[in-house]
Amino acid sequence: MTHSDISGQNDISANLLRVRSRIATAAKDAGRDPAGIVLIAVSKFHGVERVLPALAAGQMDFGENRVQEAAEKWPALRRSAPQCRLHLIGPLQTNKVRQAVALFDAIHTLDREKLARRLAEEIQASGRSPALFVQVNTGREPQKAGAPPDKADAFIKQCRGEFGLNIGGLMCIPPVGQAAAAHFALLADIAARNGLPHLSMGMSEDFENAIWCGATHVRIGSAIFGERA
Ligand SMILES: *Cc1c(COP(=O)(O)O)cnc(C)c1O
Repeated sequence: MTHSDISGQNDISANLLRVRSRIATAAKDAGRDPAGIVLIAVSKFHGVERVLPALAAGQMDFGENRVQEAAEKWPALRRSAPQCRLHLIGPLQTNKVRQAVALFDAIHTLDREKLARRLAEEIQASGRSPALFVQVNTGREPQKAGAPPDKADAFIKQCRGEFGLNIGGLMCIPPVGQAAAAHFALLADIAARNGLPHLSMGMSEDFENAIWCGATHVRIGSAIFGERA
């Protein structure tokens, strides 16, 4: 066994190859161009030493779910890979908006008026413009973030009209233990009627299904980096 096997680096590049090939197959089955699907490698809870082999393997898009963790990990990583893109996929508190807008290229968890207002202020002040996704709580789970599905149209309209935000798409996290397809289809419906081109949906367990339903951004953690501690 080589040193890199012991540290799991070969695993990560092999896992990435496998995931990319599964994305290509799922896209082909759905009659879609695989180039229209962004693979976000979710590196939350994994240290810099596990992110580096993914960068070395050419992975460009990464997801983190905590602003603080990203602020600790990514400034150094970005120096070695200035072209990579960082996506915030976890809840965003308004007191972290400044830091988030400075750090992230995309924010997938815009879900309420107060956050929309703060993001608009910060985008204006900083001159940065992260891609924005509105998160929809498709399963109406009380413990989960996201705009309720029946309020999504109004919220998207408010983001655009009142706050002048450029919304690129929608994001959802289907309830655990339910068939995800109905949630993906609901998200795709809401996006279509609001003229939104991007759909952030699909994780390690269900990304092929999400691609079938139109996902443009899949967020994949454990299938690439292994189980999280
Ligand atoms: C952790 C996480 C993922 C990745 O989950 P895996 O099952 O490890 O692929 C995707 N999306 C969100 C919002 C997450 O928090």
